[in-house]
Amino acid sequence: MNYNKKTVTDLDVKGKKVLLRCDFNVPQDKTTHAITDDKRIRAALPTIQYLLDQNAAVIACSHLGKPKGQVKPELTLAPVAQRLSELLGREVIFAADTIGPDAQVKAAALKPGQILLLENLRFDIGEEKNHPEFAKALADMAEIYVSDAFGTVHRAHASTAGVAAYLPAVSGFLIQKELEIMGGALNDPKRPFVAVLGGAKVSDKIGVINNLLEKADTIIIGGGMAYTFKKAQGYAIGTSLLEEDKIGYAKEMIAKAEAKDVKFLLPTDNLCAKEFSKDSEPVLVEGDIPEGLMGMDIGPKTVEDFCTAVKGAGTVVWNGPMGVFEFPAFAEGTRAMAKALAESGAITIVGGGDSAAAVEQLGFADKITHISTGGGASLEFLEGLELPGVACLLDK
Ligand code: ADP
Ligand code: MG
Repeated sequence: MNYNKKTVTDLDVKGKKVLLRCDFNVPQDKTTHAITDDKRIRAALPTIQYLLDQNAAVIACSHLGKPKGQVKPELTLAPVAQRLSELLGREVIFAADTIGPDAQVKAAALKPGQILLLENLRFDIGEEKNHPEFAKALADMAEIYVSDAFGTVHRAHASTAGVAAYLPAVSGFLIQKELEIMGGALNDPKRPFVAVLGGAKVSDKIGVINNLLEKADTIIIGGGMAYTFKKAQGYAIGTSLLEEDKIGYAKEMIAKAEAKDVKFLLPTDNLCAKEFSKDSEPVLVEGDIPEGLMGMDIGPKTVEDFCTAVKGAGTVVWNGPMGVFEFPAFAEGTRAMAKALAESGAITIVGGGDSAAAVEQLGFADKITHISTGGGASLEFLEGLELPGVACLLDK
């Protein structure tokens, strides 16, 4: 896939109306609907500020939650408009609909240097269904399309891909960074290229492992998904997570790694528990895991092996925690991995919602080259799949 795409600085946006797709899908308090974390709004500021500084008229749009084509008052973007206004220190005009009369009138009247936020895109069924009429109505309000919602680039929706049929389409700074760093790692990695994969399910990461086996020098597998691979190697795994129907796949991957001379590291010792609970007493087990115990985290020997591989790397991509890090007694493997990435001189990339959260919670976020802002999107990126929201942008 071509990741070399035109960006907002490659077009003249001065005085132009710009449709800007943002990711304002922020978490909200269930009862008060107050925004509980405005990180995504803050992340959009550099592109918005650049456009306003260039005297563009910015028509921002986003989805929020899953209204599934219906107007759900609790999923209005009005609180986002307010927070955005506070962060920018200027007025944010809010449209009470998405492509309806209010949006049309306000977009038409919008002046250079002003910003308008449209109501939740997903209030209209045309957004997720990528209806051409909906995409065209969005496009008709503007002269240029800037996409900065990396979290949705794996979806072919009207506002993420459809509009590009009608307007010159470029990336904002957020997507530009994702493409530069993740695209760089996949197409031309600084070697050795080490991929660290973990998390709960093999089935979630099959495509990623398969693609990275073509590119990486070392693949490290931890977390719950490691036990299906251990089982495939003939080890006993007690009551650890197992995807029985993926054992064949695991064998194939191990064989493929061997054939391609890719180092494939699996845990050799584990911290186990009698039951899946934060109060379970950790039991250190080497090799076979006896009946009645489940692997909850990688053990100290494994931590050392994995971290050594990371320390010598040129590029590290990490997706999925090494253990049940939500329980303090089983967080050490994930903590040590985050620290190893932070201390390595490598280009380090963390993708995946839980891994990114772990790195942030553990305080290593500012020592990581890049934390991807899209969970599903970064997985599909690592799978090497074509991302509709990227493919639709103009090539450089
Ligand atoms: P990401 O969001 O980073 O892609 P996943 O969603 O794939 O990560 O996996 C995260 C989950 O995996 C966490 O909730 C964690 O508790 C769980 N997990 C990790 N190791 C184990 C294990 N040994 N047994 C059960 N669950 C695990
Ligand atoms: Mg997750």
